[in-house]
Amino acid sequence: MEGKKKKSKGKKGGAPAAERQHMKMEELAVPQVQEPLFTCALCGKPIEYIAEAISEPDGSYSHFDCVMDKIRRQENVSENEKLSYIGHGCFAVFTTGEDGKLAIRTRIQYESKETFESAKKFVESTKQ
Ligand SMILES: [Zn+2]
Repeated sequence: MEGKKKKSKGKKGGAPAAERQHMKMEELAVPQVQEPLFTCALCGKPIEYIAEAISEPDGSYSHFDCVMDKIRRQENVSENEKLSYIGHGCFAVFTTGEDGKLAIRTRIQYESKETFESAKKFVESTKQ
């Protein structure tokens, strides 16, 4: 009865090699298109669609909804007011006048021009 020596293969259950699909990028010379997954700077959850994210001044990204929520609190948007994204990284609080017309109460430039431009390029690069 001899104790058999077990050949211990250090078989560590590693993750299978991810099948990487190499998409043909013909005219896209954007170097930072590697990880489309960002984490929201406000709620900490992953951002699945960068197109629905807003870039923060420090270069991180946040969910569009999280930013809306943040601004809503920050600007004390009341019930008869409306917060909307008006484009170019800019939000606005609309207030309804007595005549029922909406008027901009506050304009919030959330994304700087630089971060907006880079985010826009990024979004465009992910579109097919
Ligand atoms: Zn979020």
